[in-house]
Amino acid sequence: MQHQLAFTLVMLFAVFAASSDGLNGAEKITPKAAAQALKPVPARELFGRIAQAVPMTARSIGGYARGCMAGGKMLPVNGPAWQAMRLSRNRNWGHPLLVKYVERLATDARQLDGWPGLLVGDMAQPMGGPMLTGHASHQIGLDADIWLKPMPPKELTREERENISADSMLGDDKLTINGKLWTPGHVKLLRRASLYPEVARIFVHPVIKKALCGAAGDDRGWLGKIRPWWGHHYHFHVRLTCPVGNTGCMNQPALGSDDGCGVELDNWFKLLTRPPAPPDPNQKPPKPKLPLTLADLPADCAKLIGAPVQASEAPATADIEQPEDAKPTATGE
Ligand SMILES: [Zn+2]
Repeated sequence: MQHQLAFTLVMLFAVFAASSDGLNGAEKITPKAAAQALKPVPARELFGRIAQAVPMTARSIGGYARGCMAGGKMLPVNGPAWQAMRLSRNRNWGHPLLVKYVERLATDARQLDGWPGLLVGDMAQPMGGPMLTGHASHQIGLDADIWLKPMPPKELTREERENISADSMLGDDKLTINGKLWTPGHVKLLRRASLYPEVARIFVHPVIKKALCGAAGDDRGWLGKIRPWWGHHYHFHVRLTCPVGNTGCMNQPALGSDDGCGVELDNWFKLLTRPPAPPDPNQKPPKPKLPLTLADLPADCAKLIGAPVQASEAPATADIEQPEDAKPTATGE
């Protein structure tokens, strides 16, 4: 397997580095290169190259932005009311409960609300874990991105699924909703998506949250689960709670009963309209973020892929590479 190969190469390099001062004294490498060779492999290099899940009891292990998944299931690329997008990424995997949720939301939204069908974006990798690109979270098979663009009435080709662009729901000023694309159907879809008890949170851009707050009328119980976050104007991000019995799966703190349409939303709009801070000439450049290694994940993640754990150099933080899951926090929001 590729990850074993990667590890073997690193170890060989390390052995070579250690012995190159030895008998023949020939090939030498610098201490810096030797240290480089001994660096632990980023966990994303291991999990990001796994093509398939191994059949076993399903389990979400760790936190949304620091974990992995056993016994994941693949969402079929086509269903009666959904199509999976960007198939080359191989991220249409999830805990079986997430797969079931997406299938059910797709068919319910069509039957009960008249939504044409779901275009499903990234869920998780076959065994979850950190990804080579994008997303701080989506690691334990309980997160799914669903496009806000309705599914077209035809089966998309593989190529179309790679190339069709998603639609942003923001107007040109980025502070108001795009009235040409946003419809009452979107409100019904997000309401429907939030109603299932297994849903912990749904992330949308603050402008979308504001549109939902305005459209909800007296029926406001569902709004609390809809959480404003950066990005998330091309898609919404559903996060399920830890499945019952999955010890070692870490939920986020429970939400209060507030619908989030008052002070919290006002504060988000203050952030969105805040002028950028003037550059500070004395500010030190931020330290580069170290990628997560196996040592940063729960021990069961290393066991799951059969890889040895090398000691981590420093406390790592989940990295950010794309705006859609920007600003990872302890809670992975
Ligand atoms: Zn997401």
